[in-house]
Amino acid sequence: MANSDSASKPTETASSAEPGTVRKFLSVFQYSRVAMKIVWGTSAALTLVMAATTVVSGVLPAAIASVGGLFVDAVASAIQNTGDAAEAVRSEMLFYVLVEAGLVVIMTGAQKLNTVCQSILRVLLGNKINVMILEKALTLELAHFEDAEYYDKLVRARREASSRPLSLVIKTFDLARDVVALLTIGIWLFQFSPLAVLLLGLAGIPAFLAEAKFSGEAFRIHRRRSAERRVQIYLEMVLTREDGVKEVKLLQLGKLFLQRYVGIFRKIYKEDRKLVLRRGFWGYVLGLLTSAAFYFAYGWVGFAAIAGAITIGQMTMYIAQFRLGQNAVTNSLTAVNGMYEDNLYLSNLTEYLNHKVPETTGTKTAGPDPSDGIRIENVSFFYPGSDLPALNEVNLHIRPGESLAIVGENGSGKTTLIKLLTRLYQPSEGTIYLEGLDLKEWDIDTLRKKIGVIFQDFARYQLLVGENIGIGDVDELEQDELIEEAAEKGMADEFVKDLPQGYKTQLGTWFKDGKELSGGQWQKIALSRAFMRSKADILILDEPTAAIDARAEAEIFSHFRALTANKISIIISHRFSTVRMADHIIVLGKAEILEQGSHERLLASGGQYATLFNLQAQGYQ
Ligand code: ADP
Repeated sequence: MANSDSASKPTETASSAEPGTVRKFLSVFQYSRVAMKIVWGTSAALTLVMAATTVVSGVLPAAIASVGGLFVDAVASAIQNTGDAAEAVRSEMLFYVLVEAGLVVIMTGAQKLNTVCQSILRVLLGNKINVMILEKALTLELAHFEDAEYYDKLVRARREASSRPLSLVIKTFDLARDVVALLTIGIWLFQFSPLAVLLLGLAGIPAFLAEAKFSGEAFRIHRRRSAERRVQIYLEMVLTREDGVKEVKLLQLGKLFLQRYVGIFRKIYKEDRKLVLRRGFWGYVLGLLTSAAFYFAYGWVGFAAIAGAITIGQMTMYIAQFRLGQNAVTNSLTAVNGMYEDNLYLSNLTEYLNHKVPETTGTKTAGPDPSDGIRIENVSFFYPGSDLPALNEVNLHIRPGESLAIVGENGSGKTTLIKLLTRLYQPSEGTIYLEGLDLKEWDIDTLRKKIGVIFQDFARYQLLVGENIGIGDVDELEQDELIEEAAEKGMADEFVKDLPQGYKTQLGTWFKDGKELSGGQWQKIALSRAFMRSKADILILDEPTAAIDARAEAEIFSHFRALTANKISIIISHRFSTVRMADHIIVLGKAEILEQGSHERLLASGGQYATLFNLQAQGYQ
């Protein structure tokens, strides 16, 4: 990964999340609004139903308890009365039974409706967030993918995309329900004694604040740790993925990597354990305080009933209210407790989605002078975070019809030059002109259509053979003839014919009946893809033939030359048998052009090119 020092940096917002005490307590709710906005955007109707059912399930338990109280009073008075009066009380009793049953029916209905809405929302929300993440990914530049920290945000956003935001919203709603329940209970208790309401309210606050504080703390600890978690995830990946397993086995890396993995766990675990213990202790102690207040009020109600200040029915009601209140407090504490994990997810998601991506500039679809080809003037390039140039003051001119070969040792800047030419990166200094127009001013889609590139780390699509080649030009994806023609030029047709379903064979190991190819065969598929891009004006092959035998490479290259007769072709290769066929050759060394010219001229000048050429030629003797 490119930006290794940024990988070890703690994330910035972790430090900006050190606000004042009150804000620190409230920080546990900081992403509820974000989650709510996303949920609202997914389905306003479902959100409204969820909100309404939440209020109903918050208010009704207290109401049910109070009807229960009236029922008890009616029973008591029925026992004491006789005759007509008793008859009237009996029908009153029946009425309360029906009312309570009715309320219970409404409440369970509301709860059920709430769960149903949640289930539907979960599906919709999962899809919506995944689409948001992928749409954002399409706007990103290559540099974002090479920036370890930002790339990690993308990966983490994708993980749990379908569960976290809804989970936060459910917890927020649950909390709202509990608060509504507590308020309703408070109103009822107020009739008994305002002091009791005050007492219970105050007793609940410390536990709530402690829970919010610890939840916020857990959030900050986990955020700070993202670099360590990333190393763990990387190790997991190396140990469990197909492309890592060969070396892990043969170099016996398993033990070493596992040790590192466990080492990170141990370090993290210590800190976690401390927090969990503190959290458990304070949760228990402050929870006791709340319970003590409830039981104090409980006894108080009993004494009030004995003193005749309230009826037995009222006493039953208040006791039921206390129980409900206690439950609501416990539930809300649990909700707050779990919120930090959802917050972690959402903070990452919002950072990923809100990351500013520079607008792709340029609207022009043609340059003033098509015969000018590519002109590179004083171009230098520094990778983000690097002080050393990957390219230093490079000047180069390639006209249509010319073929250019780039040679140079590893790390000399060959691929970087291609990345600049294809506008995957912008030069730090200097300008690249295509058809006399600054690359920046080109409409990016037009520009990309003009260029066909196969990089050394080309993609191995887990698609059908025909599709793998056809996507070289998506407009012609259905044209089997063109695809077969391209495959012939890339010399893939020879082995494709032997595959079980020819061009309809599934490639790779991901899907059923997929056929895995050898490295060289994959390269031939990739080359055929480049040949498919026959409408492009510039064709670039960045060392795509390394795994292909010399005979095939020579043949492919001659096809390449024929295809690019009126175009610009650029090839990066370490094989001089290929390189020598180019019209113009540049030798790159440490970010600069050391020599350039035709094969003959470079040989004659006896410089580095000549040395390297002779070295390789000797190897073949
Ligand atoms: P070549 O293709 O000639 O082997 P590159 O153009 O890939 O070399 O790399 C040139 C230099 O730029 C190297 O020193 C390499 O370390 C550095 N480099 C390449 N890619 C990146 C990147 N994504 N981020 C930072 N530095 C990079």
